Amino acid sequence: MAKTPLIFGLIGFPIKHSFSPAMHNAAFKKLGINAEYKRFEVKPEELEDFLHSLREKGICGLNVTIPYKEKVLEFVELESKNNSFYVKQIKAVNTIIIRDGILKYFNTDIPGFGRALVEKNGSAKDKRIAILGAGGASRAVAFVLAEHKAKEIAIYDIDKTKSLNIVELIRDRFPDFPIHSVDNIEDLKIKEKNLLINATPIGMKPDDRCLITEEMLHKNLFVYDLIYNPPETKLLALANKAKIGHSNGLNMLLYQGVCSLELFIDRKVPFEIIEVMRQALINEINKVKLDDRFHKQGD
Ligand code: NAP
Repeated sequence: MAKTPLIFGLIGFPIKHSFSPAMHNAAFKKLGINAEYKRFEVKPEELEDFLHSLREKGICGLNVTIPYKEKVLEFVELESKNNSFYVKQIKAVNTIIIRDGILKYFNTDIPGFGRALVEKNGSAKDKRIAILGAGGASRAVAFVLAEHKAKEIAIYDIDKTKSLNIVELIRDRFPDFPIHSVDNIEDLKIKEKNLLINATPIGMKPDDRCLITEEMLHKNLFVYDLIYNPPETKLLALANKAKIGHSNGLNMLLYQGVCSLELFIDRKVPFEIIEVMRQALINEINKVKLDDRFHKQGD
C-alpha cells in the first residue's frame, strides 16, 4: 500500500493566487519525496486553533504569508529558542517546521532576498541603495543590505513613521550603519545610487502610476522590483527602455522557497532542483491570463 504523503503548505488569507504549491510540489516530485504542499486559507479568527492543530493534522512544515507573518509571534515568546535568529531580528515568520512535535519558527525572506540579489546584481557590499516602501518586505530587504555591508541606504515611505521604524531597527542591529529616512522620492537622490528597490505594492495594478521618472535613472543603477506579477511593472519597463539592469521579484520568491524547502527536508537543495522550482514559477506566471496579470500575487 502506498504510504500517505508528508504534508506541507502555505497559510495566509487570502491565498488563492499563490504560486508556492506549484514550486514546492515540482521540487518534491523531482526529489522523489512523497510529499504534498497545499494551500491553507485560514481566517484570522481561526489562526490560533489552526496553529495548535498542526500536529494533529500531520502537517510537517508551513510557509506563512500576509497577513500572518507577524501575527504568529503572538503565540510564541519572541526570545524562545524555537525562534531562529532572523525571526528575533525582524520579528516576522514565514516558515514553520514541526519536528518531534515541536514548532520551530524561521524567516527565509532574509536569506532568500540575499541569494536573489546576489544572483541578479552581486553583493550589496559598498553599494548606495534607495528603497521605496517600508513595510514587511522592506524590513527583510534592509536587514540583508545592512548584513551585506551596503555603503548607504535611503528609504522612503508615504508613512514616515514606518520608514523611521526600519531606520531604528537597523541602527539597533547594526550600530552606526548609514541608513536614513527621507521625506520624498527626490530626496532618495537616485542619481547617486547603485541600486533602487521597489518594496511598495505600487505597480501591481494596471492603473498604478510609476513612482520614478525616466530622468532619475542612470547607467550605474540596477532596479529591483519585488513585484513578480505582473512580470514587468511600469518601473521595470522604464528601466528596460533606459537599457539598465533590472529584475522583478520572481527570484526572491524562488529563493525564499528554496531556503524554506531546505528547512523542510533538512538538507541543501541542489542546483538542478532550484531550476525545476524556477521553471514551475515561470509556468505559473505564464498560465495567468493577461487580464488577471495584475494584483494576483499571494505568497
Ligand atoms: P506592505 O507591508 O503593505 O508594505 C508596503 C509599504 O509601501 C507600506 O508601508 C505602504 O504604505 C508603502 N507604500 C504604498 N504606496 C507607497 C508610495 N506611493 N510611496 C511610498 N510608499 C508607499 O507590503 P509588503 O508585504 O512589504 O510587500 C511590498 C511589495 O513587495 C508587494 O508588492 C509584495 O507583493 C512584494 N513582495 C514580494 C516578495 C517576493 O518574494 N518577490 C516578497 C514579499 C513581498 P501604506 O501601508 O501606508 O500604504
